[in-house]
Amino acid sequence: MSDYDIIIIGTGAGGGTLARYLAPSGKRILLLERGDWLPREPPNWSAHDVFVDNRYVSEDTWFDERDRPFQPQVHYFVGGATKLYGAALYRLRAEDFGELSHHDGMSPAWPIGYDEMEPYYTMAEQLYCVHGARGEDPTEPPASAPYPFPAVSHEPRIQQLHDDLEATGHRPFHAPCGVMLAEADMPNSACVRCATCDGFPCLVHAKSDAEVLGVRPALAQPNVHLVTRAEAVGLETNAAGTTVTGVVVDHDGTTETHTADLVVVSCGAANSAKLLLASASDAHPNGLANGSDLVGRNYMFHNSAAVLALSREPNPTVFQKTLGLNDFYFRGGDVDYPLGNIQMVGKSSAEMYRGEKPLQTRLAPEWTLRDVAHHAVDFWLSTEDLPRPENRVTLRSDGRIALAYTPSNEEPKRQLLGELKRLLAPLGMHHDHMHVRHAYLKNDIPVAGCAHQAGTCRFGRDAAASVLNTDCRAHEVDNLYVVDTSFFPSIGAVNPALTAMANALRVGDHLLERLGARRGRPEAAHA
Ligand SMILES: Cc1cc2nc3c(=O)[nH]c(=O)nc-3n(C[C@H](O)[C@H](O)[C@H](O)COP(=O)(O)OP(=O)(O)OC[C@H]3O[C@@H](n4cnc5c(N)ncnc54)[C@H](O)[C@@H]3O)c2cc1C
Ligand code: SF4
Repeated sequence: MSDYDIIIIGTGAGGGTLARYLAPSGKRILLLERGDWLPREPPNWSAHDVFVDNRYVSEDTWFDERDRPFQPQVHYFVGGATKLYGAALYRLRAEDFGELSHHDGMSPAWPIGYDEMEPYYTMAEQLYCVHGARGEDPTEPPASAPYPFPAVSHEPRIQQLHDDLEATGHRPFHAPCGVMLAEADMPNSACVRCATCDGFPCLVHAKSDAEVLGVRPALAQPNVHLVTRAEAVGLETNAAGTTVTGVVVDHDGTTETHTADLVVVSCGAANSAKLLLASASDAHPNGLANGSDLVGRNYMFHNSAAVLALSREPNPTVFQKTLGLNDFYFRGGDVDYPLGNIQMVGKSSAEMYRGEKPLQTRLAPEWTLRDVAHHAVDFWLSTEDLPRPENRVTLRSDGRIALAYTPSNEEPKRQLLGELKRLLAPLGMHHDHMHVRHAYLKNDIPVAGCAHQAGTCRFGRDAAASVLNTDCRAHEVDNLYVVDTSFFPSIGAVNPALTAMANALRVGDHLLERLGARRGRPEAAHA
């Protein structure tokens, strides 16, 4: 008999959500997490510690296609990347599930439609306490329920931007936010609405991350067990290669093997591909479940830019990530192809500029940078990154990750920036005063900014053209599932975490059925 009914490897958006959903079933569940609990400490909210010293970035080294080492911006903690994320919890658009023609080619259709994902998006919005307002975003897909919590209000400068954009015929909307904020009852609000949210851990555990709303509630059940500092390094199978028989773990330097009837991999797109590739055997010579040769391929991470606009008036906004604009999501002003999504990013600060451009800012007096920050209005632009087989994760001979990547849709990305400049020029933010920043990044190697990584184990109906079936089970291995963003066949142009969470719930229903357990319905957790 196996030690567990299910082993879940990785506790981020995919794995942490799945753990919470399966926990009430009573099934014996083991969570394996290579990282530790993220310490709650004053540096959580220090821009210097987070952006200059990269305190919470892993010490992993990956290599680009020319074998140059870089430090990927990944976060190995209970809760995964969601510990640091901006908690902008968007649904993909219904059209993203179909084929979409882009400047650089076709974004492929998903094997399931939006209607199949919709109930799980609704459930994920409940579980992750999403605040928002339906009916404002012209590209919003249909939803079977309102947002569980009201939209986070704009502060005056962002409200002014909203009103100005609306006055020029645009359709700005309140961005969907996963923060446990009770604006009508601030004395009892978990979230204190601070300036150190996007890119920072939440010191008071009020961000809707996968530790706070996934792993911790799961561990409240006696049947769920977590091992931290436990990196899965290999998956063993039976001789035919049809069943995973053991998960080999490096636990604090000691090798352990755990067994379970079902094994779910959720290590993040690059590390899940790494684990499967590292689990090659006679039955799977190219890597486990890799008969299609697609494990590691089609890596996507959004073609994004952080843009700092200098406003004539000061911008004293504290929590800035409240506004989005999808007017160019499906087409630009002059072109009939998608450009992407515009949203606010966390308010920038002098310390962040030092972290992003250490050389250029070394001699800059503090007051100059503070002055810039005082007038900065910060935007985040995302253009869809198309799946390309040659953009891929492979393993070097020393077992470390090599990432070959060339961006797609550069022209629409440029045009989206052009649209933003046109919008802002009459609003006191002239285009001469706009700079593309490397937010979340300390260096200039674009592949290091892998916050939105996805696509390395795409799901599909055809075993020759996908790694996973529509239940996210490996075509070739009966008890192996993948529930992180690896399964995405395309990435759309909105942030990916809610889709990973919703899909984990969808796969969770399949797993519960397979285990003969009852389905659950988690409810929104904050007041
Ligand atoms: C700074 C930042 C801001 C972001 N902002 C947003 C946002 O506003 N909205 C949004 O939707 N998305 C955002 N994202 C992206 C979002 O966080 C990710 O898309 C999401 O967390 C991906 O979920 P995942 O389950 O695929 O991987 P992760 O959440 O990264 O989880 C993977 C987990 O697996 C663990 N792991 C890795 N390898 C192993 C192994 N071999 N053995 C055991 N454990 C392992 C890792 O430690 C980690 O805990 C942001 C990300 C970052 C970094
Ligand atoms: S804004 Fe709220 S959720 Fe975000 S870090 Fe601050 S207290 Fe936490």
